[in-house]
Amino acid sequence: MKLEDYKGISAPGDLRAIEKMAERLRGKKMLHVNSTAAGGGVAELLQRIVPLIRDMGIDVRWEVMQAEKPFFEVTKNFHNALQGKGKPLTREMWDTYEGVNRENYARIDTDADCVVIHDPQPALFIEKKKRGIWLWRCHIDISTPEKATWYLLKNTIEKFDAGIFSVSSFAQSLPIPQFLMQPSIDPLSEKNIELSEDEVNRVYERFGIPMDKPILLQVSRFDPFKDPLGVIDSYRLVKKYHDCRLVLAGGTATDDPEGERVLKEVQEKANNDPDIHILLIPPFSDREINALQRGATIVLQKSTREGFGLVVAEALWKKKPVIGGDVGGIPLQIIEGVTGFLIHSVEGAAYRIRQLLENPEKAKKMGENAKEHIRRNFLITRNIENYLSMWTALEHKDQKVIYL
Ligand code: UDP
Repeated sequence: MKLEDYKGISAPGDLRAIEKMAERLRGKKMLHVNSTAAGGGVAELLQRIVPLIRDMGIDVRWEVMQAEKPFFEVTKNFHNALQGKGKPLTREMWDTYEGVNRENYARIDTDADCVVIHDPQPALFIEKKKRGIWLWRCHIDISTPEKATWYLLKNTIEKFDAGIFSVSSFAQSLPIPQFLMQPSIDPLSEKNIELSEDEVNRVYERFGIPMDKPILLQVSRFDPFKDPLGVIDSYRLVKKYHDCRLVLAGGTATDDPEGERVLKEVQEKANNDPDIHILLIPPFSDREINALQRGATIVLQKSTREGFGLVVAEALWKKKPVIGGDVGGIPLQIIEGVTGFLIHSVEGAAYRIRQLLENPEKAKKMGENAKEHIRRNFLITRNIENYLSMWTALEHKDQKVIYL
């Protein structure tokens, strides 16, 4: 993967800015630390951005914590408590957390000009800081944390040079500078790369979905907060006026009892309607999801609670207008009436779906806007540019003027 590959895809200004900043940072050391090498959005992002940053001549490393189940149980609890849904951390849990952090920071060389610590798991690495800029990248929603747990962590976070959050409402009051940086998608990954019409058609055929009528699509885990039942209700309201199909695609959830329950409810509610297609998508089906998104007429993301909502960016990039819930990061991506519509109810979603189905020209124009919005704001190159500019700005924070 090379920066050059993004020419003609990412905004030219972003690429120029990256090249310029990289020139000044060339030969310097950068380190990213997280707690998993694969699975989850953080690892996925690091897999793509680390090689690109290296390609710019920056000596970047990515280190992963080594830990066993008890640590991950504690950090899962930590994670839930920070998201406001878990029990407070006990002394014993904190000891496990601290012990594993110690073992890991003794093992990992943290000497770098810029160190990025991802999420709470390796946050105590800051205790080992000797030099460089240290950034804490928070990927989770800590807007309403369980207080005691947050105060424990806050003492540590305050030692960083800056914190980075995905959405302003996810941030917390801290005495250090805070940056906002949204997640991004990689236009060259299997999930987002251009596909031929032929391939798209074949995927639809394989899933047994005729492309004979407009297709409404929601790709999501079967989770109550993604409101798949509400999506079916909206589809039924639309169906009175427009013949269309509804595709609900999501991962199988054998290890998630809640997922199975929601899936069952969805199947019951669909009630064998031949125009509702419920697809169980195995993991690593990126190309299939890509094709489903490309073949859809309108994409829905009727979440009632959301982190950033990467699926929205994925669909907008494929020139699909998206009708989505007004929660989490969705309003950053859906510009009302320009790239899609924000909705607050079943009826609202149905109304907007009808509006777009009745006006394909408008839908097409919105799709074009959608792609441009993602190009300018939510591609991986913009993420890299953000990292480099934060690094540069903090290195020169005593100067009155910083030339980026
Ligand atoms: N996704 C997937 N398979 C599925 C459902 C979702 O690969 O069955 C992908 C989807 O394309 C997106 C990510 O998982 O890249 C979901 O991220 P998002 O932020 O939309 O929601 P989350 O699941 O993290 O709440």
